[in-house]
Amino acid sequence: MDGKLAVIGLGSIGSMALWQASRLSDSVVGFEAKVPAHGRSAVGGDTRLFRLLYRGNPSYYPILQRSQRLWAELREQAGQDVLLRCGGLFIGTEDGPYIPRLLETARATGAEHRILSREEMAERYPQHHLRPDDVAVYDPHAGALRTDQAVTAAVAAAQANGATVLTDTPVDGIRETADGVVVTSGDRSWTFENVIVASGGWSRKLLPEALRAHTQMKRVFLSWFVAKDPALFSPERFPIFIRISGERSMYGAPSVDGATVKATLDGRGKPVPGFEAISRDFTPEEIAETTETVSEFFPGLYPNIVRTDAFPDLFTTDSNPLLGRLEEGSRIYCATGFSGAGFKMASGYGEIAALEALGKETVENLDFLRPSRFTT
Ligand SMILES: Cc1cc2nc3c(=O)[nH]c(=O)nc-3n(C[C@H](O)[C@H](O)[C@H](O)COP(=O)(O)OP(=O)(O)OC[C@H]3O[C@@H](n4cnc5c(N)ncnc54)[C@H](O)[C@@H]3O)c2cc1C
Repeated sequence: MDGKLAVIGLGSIGSMALWQASRLSDSVVGFEAKVPAHGRSAVGGDTRLFRLLYRGNPSYYPILQRSQRLWAELREQAGQDVLLRCGGLFIGTEDGPYIPRLLETARATGAEHRILSREEMAERYPQHHLRPDDVAVYDPHAGALRTDQAVTAAVAAAQANGATVLTDTPVDGIRETADGVVVTSGDRSWTFENVIVASGGWSRKLLPEALRAHTQMKRVFLSWFVAKDPALFSPERFPIFIRISGERSMYGAPSVDGATVKATLDGRGKPVPGFEAISRDFTPEEIAETTETVSEFFPGLYPNIVRTDAFPDLFTTDSNPLLGRLEEGSRIYCATGFSGAGFKMASGYGEIAALEALGKETVENLDFLRPSRFTT
């Protein structure tokens, strides 16, 4: 045996799983194809939105709370503001597809929130140009996660606890045997008691065919704009936002460099055959729609896209992650398929993966995330 647990992929989730596993065992090894937090993984693009107010299955709420606690711990440990708590604004029409479902989930979970009138919005957040039928809901616990800092801090904490990190070591195969899992990279191989697959958009090649059929790599893009008055878009003044107004939708974060603001079309992940097909440039249609939306929503931003980027993420057919063992008794644990929504809960998912892969119990009600939902 070369160790109790191997974590394959030290990006958003794998870094957190390694950190948590290193607290429980002195025999954990992380494999990373490049380096942790490299800019072409789903860690790229500076920030990700965190919020407790979440539209969708209320069973995510305990994972969000667990993640909030762990982001605070990571902040303490690293001495760095990995989560800028700037609040969050969610904007849409009162009878549209977004706000009623958001409020319904808030009622089911008890997530703290406040509805803001148009007058309050105009006074407190003049950056947003609202439509007459728009309303806004505020989440005081929301913020912007500094992705590269968070992942780097988690890997450093794991190493400080004794974890081994192998960079530039792409895993090309995992094979379960009677007493362990054989991990191979080129002509090298290792055997571990258990393995966590956390290789993000690239995970398909390590998954069995039955799960591959339910997943695809998608290209998810980001865009940035220059603010006319940067102070108005600082974390102190400008909460993260998601806005679905009629046919237009956009989300974004405050400026973290004092000059540019992230504002991006929402829900535009497109399937790609592989990583090589992910263009960092926008198509003419993407440029046109992004520019028109920013022109309408934010009069305080110059409507020229000054930076674009795009990254892979693994999407499942039901948009819920694959979190759990391949099947009961398997030594291979999946922590992938986060479907464009995983970073806010990366610390929580990482802790659940580490605990469960090392044979410990965690929260209940995770059946909707288990890989077996697709295979049995
Ligand atoms: C543009 C964009 C915006 C997003 N916005 C948000 C948001 O605002 N809020 C939110 O919560 N979520 C958001 N998400 C989703 C979130 O970022 C992802 O769901 C999450 O980061 C996925 O993490 P991961 O660990 O699965 O993948 P990654 O972070 O990509 O990590 C995978 C790692 O595995 C490594 N690897 C791959 N193959 C191998 C191999 N064979 N051997 C060894 N290592 C390997 C890679 O190099 C990489 O480092 C967004 C995603 C994108 C792309």
